[in-house]
Amino acid sequence: MTTIPVTNPRTGEVDHWIEPWGRAEIAALGADLRKAQQGWSEAGIAHRVAVLRRWADAIEAHAGAIGDAEAVDTGRSRVAHEVPHMVVASVRGWCDAAPTLLDGARLQGRSSVTDTVSFDTELDPYPLLGVISPWNHPFLLSMLDAVPALLAGCAVIVKPSEVTPRFVEPVSASIAEVPELDAVLRYVLGGPETGQALVAEVDALCFTGSVSTGRALAETCARLFIPAFLELGGKDAAIVTASADLARAAAAVLKGAVHNTGQICFATERVYVDRTVHDEFVEELTAQASRLELNHPDIDRGHLGPFILGRQADIVDAHLADAVARGAVIRCGGPSETLDGGRYMRATVLTGVDHSMTIMREETFGPVVPVQAYDHVDEAVHLADDSEYGLSAAVIAGDEAEARAIGRRLHAGAVSLMDTSLTITIMRDVEKTSYGASGLGGSRMGPNGLLRFLRRKALITRSGPVTDMEMLREDPHS
Ligand code: NAD
Repeated sequence: MTTIPVTNPRTGEVDHWIEPWGRAEIAALGADLRKAQQGWSEAGIAHRVAVLRRWADAIEAHAGAIGDAEAVDTGRSRVAHEVPHMVVASVRGWCDAAPTLLDGARLQGRSSVTDTVSFDTELDPYPLLGVISPWNHPFLLSMLDAVPALLAGCAVIVKPSEVTPRFVEPVSASIAEVPELDAVLRYVLGGPETGQALVAEVDALCFTGSVSTGRALAETCARLFIPAFLELGGKDAAIVTASADLARAAAAVLKGAVHNTGQICFATERVYVDRTVHDEFVEELTAQASRLELNHPDIDRGHLGPFILGRQADIVDAHLADAVARGAVIRCGGPSETLDGGRYMRATVLTGVDHSMTIMREETFGPVVPVQAYDHVDEAVHLADDSEYGLSAAVIAGDEAEARAIGRRLHAGAVSLMDTSLTITIMRDVEKTSYGASGLGGSRMGPNGLLRFLRRKALITRSGPVTDMEMLREDPHS
């Protein structure tokens, strides 16, 4: 396969290249990992926890190098350097939780139909899991599924996005320091073709990325009869009621919309505000948004980094242009700007929007807050639910009870109340379902985040005599 060029998001220049893995190489790696997986699974949870805890220490030791590489991948510094520590916390958290989760999943008992039959459960991990991840949070999203899968007893091959591959080298160095882990966890580099080759080798797939790729991969997995766990795009709505503290609501909405330059699946992408407070809210939101600065030229200053993928800036510009052509008004911010080769966009507030506009229907993935007025809360719920997506949503009201009553009605898997984007704070604690086109295959969060990687084998024992053949007679009285 041909070398893939990688662009630096801050300069717009190609300064890195990757050699994509081919089908034969992935098949050979898969065979090696499958062999090692048997011992990994049989060694038991205490061993796997001990190995992963050593890896957490190794990530900490390599945190600087991983952060530096991800900073080049993504063009942002602070978040890039926080991510290794977030992964470490996630590894240690799953290590704490896994033994109890595995214990609780093993059921035993007696048949409810006949008391001479008893049963117990074997937990049988999928031997080899494939993980395909996107560019917006390179290291974190490559590990979100892999860590619980390893603790479940799977071996894992990860194919991160070809847009942001630089972090792989220092992460692989940390894995290599823990040989037992190195035998069951590997990264492979490449684009869609490498992804397809990976799917052909594995026993289950975790995919995080766009709806269109997710749909294609789900079809492939269905043909192969392997489970596909999909985490896809979003178009999160936030509802702001008349009783809300408008300064707080504006801050929550803005944070949700522009964090990571809006390149987050659960970014706030649409806001519905009660018409009686619309103007006041927009004034507050615009004032707060105007205070945010680009993190250019100094990567260590400002709030909004460059678009990680230059093409994404074109998509956001096209959504903005479509909205303006249909009557929307840009209150602050505006189209993307190119600075020293990087593509940036200021926090952008848009009013006069409606659902005829692409910006209210398709994932924008940029730092844009389109605001639409509503007259009645039923209309707000209707507008929020008028979407093919259902990843998450938010309600900011006068108090929690009011927000909760509205939030319970929304068609979304996680609803933040009195704030936005709270999903990230409960990753290991509670399960959530992605509604609509936002996902498939059960929760990656909460206990199911680990238990989904285990096939249940029921061992069913008859303790009394085998059923008398007379029971099969159609004419018992003859
Ligand atoms: P993408 O679908 O273009 O690519 C994702 C991954 O799939 C990449 O590694 C890519 O190389 C690979 N890929 C692409 N085509 C493939 C194919 N035909 N076969 C196999 N692999 C293939 O997505 P992206 O642009 O990298 O990421 C952005 C998207 O990810 C957004 O829609 C965002 O909302 C979504 N996302 C979702 C979540 C979530 O948890 N729900 C989290 C982050 C990002």
